[in-house]
Amino acid sequence: MVQKRAGGIEVSFEFFPPKSEAMEASLWTAIQRLAPLGPRFVSVTYGAGGSTRERTHHTIQRLLGETDLDPAAHLTCVDASRAEVDEVIHQYRQTGVKHFVALRGDGQGGAGSAFVPRDDGYRNGADLTAGLKAIDPEFEISVSAYPEKHPESPDFATDIDLLKRKVDNGATRAITQFFFDNDVYERYVERVRRAGVYVPIVPGIVPIHDFVKIARFSEATGANVPAWLARRFEGLENDPQTRAHVAAAVCAEQVLDLTQRGVGEFHFYTMNRADLVYSICHILGLRPGPMAVEGNEGAAAA
Ligand SMILES: Cc1cc2nc3c(=O)[nH]c(=O)nc-3n(C[C@H](O)[C@H](O)[C@H](O)COP(=O)(O)OP(=O)(O)OC[C@H]3O[C@@H](n4cnc5c(N)ncnc54)[C@H](O)[C@@H]3O)c2cc1C
Repeated sequence: MVQKRAGGIEVSFEFFPPKSEAMEASLWTAIQRLAPLGPRFVSVTYGAGGSTRERTHHTIQRLLGETDLDPAAHLTCVDASRAEVDEVIHQYRQTGVKHFVALRGDGQGGAGSAFVPRDDGYRNGADLTAGLKAIDPEFEISVSAYPEKHPESPDFATDIDLLKRKVDNGATRAITQFFFDNDVYERYVERVRRAGVYVPIVPGIVPIHDFVKIARFSEATGANVPAWLARRFEGLENDPQTRAHVAAAVCAEQVLDLTQRGVGEFHFYTMNRADLVYSICHILGLRPGPMAVEGNEGAAAA
């Protein structure tokens, strides 16, 4: 696998399964652009209640069949029995998937909607991690973490206790919900370490393609949007070019500050777009190696 690192920097990219042929084409354009940067892995999300099950599977299959990338399949416990989730896990295993992002998930309504546990189902990310490891102890498991705590958690202690259970059950990496205040992330990592959790807490970075959308989504996820960030995008609603420059500057500031704080691994919520993420990776020092996508062997990205 292509592996380009700059000063120990490692990245991973998250994609969502496309809903149409046009969206599939743009996803693959993004993958072809980003693959030469040699991500540690690329992950594919799983819609609420398994609503994207087939499309997630299809995208993972294509990644396995047509690229040298290491795909990680997101999996949730929503609206499914253990037996049903286990069947999905076995299917993935048969096709060569070895890495999962194990999640509880939200209700059918998406972020912010209530999760209703089933008596015969997995109850949370820790439970699902144990289920995955019971099927194959060799699986690599990443899980979620919440620097501003999960909105349903009464306090940080409860939230971090659940993270600890995920790690005790076999998770070896936590990827955070996106955040914009690096002090919040740093304080969270300190808390996590004090609780005896030592796996990497990889910051989830969201490039702001659309500030209004991100601000709305943040409300549901509990991520705070600082006033200074809103001011940066003020008055740019009809100015996509300036917005893109500001977004790149904001994201670059965030990741460079994190590297100064010792962070060497980043997970990018790409939204299936390569432009901003590619620029930020370039700023982080990553450079393309030979293409790792079928049909482009040997080509060098611009
Ligand atoms: C990196 C990352 C990737 C994601 N990918 C997806 C995806 O592909 N598809 C998707 O639908 N969503 C995804 N999400 C969103 C996620 O599904 C939601 O944030 C969801 O609300 C929580 O899922 P979790 O696995 O983080 O939950 P968990 O960490 O298992 O639990 C979240 C909170 O729920 C409460 N809780 C859990 N178990 C119990 C219990 N037994 N009793 C009482 N309270 C409990 C606790 O307060 C806990 O902190 C992702 C989030 C992140 C950070």
